Amino acid sequence: MKTKQTSVCGLFAVVLTLALTACPTNTNIGHQHDWGPWTVTTAPTCTTAGVETRTCAVNLSHVETRPVAIDPNAHDMGEWTETRASTATACGEETSACQRTGCTHTETRAIFTIDFAGLGLSSRNGVAFTQRWDDFFILFPEFPYVDFTVFSRVTIRANAFGAGSEPIAPSDDMIMVTLIYDPAGDWRGPPETPGPNTPLRQFNVGGPSGSAHTERGSIIRLTRAPGAILFQNVQEVVRYIEVVEVTFHNR
Ligand SMILES: [Zn+2]
Ligand SMILES: [Zn+2]
Repeated sequence: MKTKQTSVCGLFAVVLTLALTACPTNTNIGHQHDWGPWTVTTAPTCTTAGVETRTCAVNLSHVETRPVAIDPNAHDMGEWTETRASTATACGEETSACQRTGCTHTETRAIFTIDFAGLGLSSRNGVAFTQRWDDFFILFPEFPYVDFTVFSRVTIRANAFGAGSEPIAPSDDMIMVTLIYDPAGDWRGPPETPGPNTPLRQFNVGGPSGSAHTERGSIIRLTRAPGAILFQNVQEVVRYIEVVEVTFHNR
């Protein structure tokens, strides 16, 4: 029994000695460090490691750093550019590439431009408008190869012309455009705001616009494919509307 007690005390003494000799710097600075939490001071990117730092609460000049592993998902994506055009039977594609040297990551997304000529759709009203808010209604065919619910933005461009087909200068109050789900439903919708059957209803977007609308078009959330689009002349001077582009983007 006595022998066993002695051996336990001896083991404890050895451990204590090791603890004191393992950290000689502690005796040099006169205190035990009281390290705060590690915080990321330089975020890692897809090509470079980051840095984490922690500071001693007893003496703020005591700082330790350690590397943070490269984050394979921390890209610096560039502008999206169209890399494959839409056709009458297929979506197109747009691509963005990481701008960092040494990274080859790219992302692609669907884009869909309605090909009016390829689909045999009118892009200009054949009979001149005679009054304000006349209708130029275009029925869409079905687009079974397009999932419209992935898109978050639509760019619609149209030009306005007068009685002699002279171009009318772009402005925000020349053309009203309405996207319609069901042409058999309420396709006029509430004025200037989306309705249950009219997911987009506003003055012309991204086309002959002045200050109110930008080249970025309009934010849109579709629950299904649109079945038609309606253009209306807001000013009587506009007698013809010519659709230049209707493109859906998912960004
Ligand atoms: Zn310290
Ligand atoms: Zn990258």
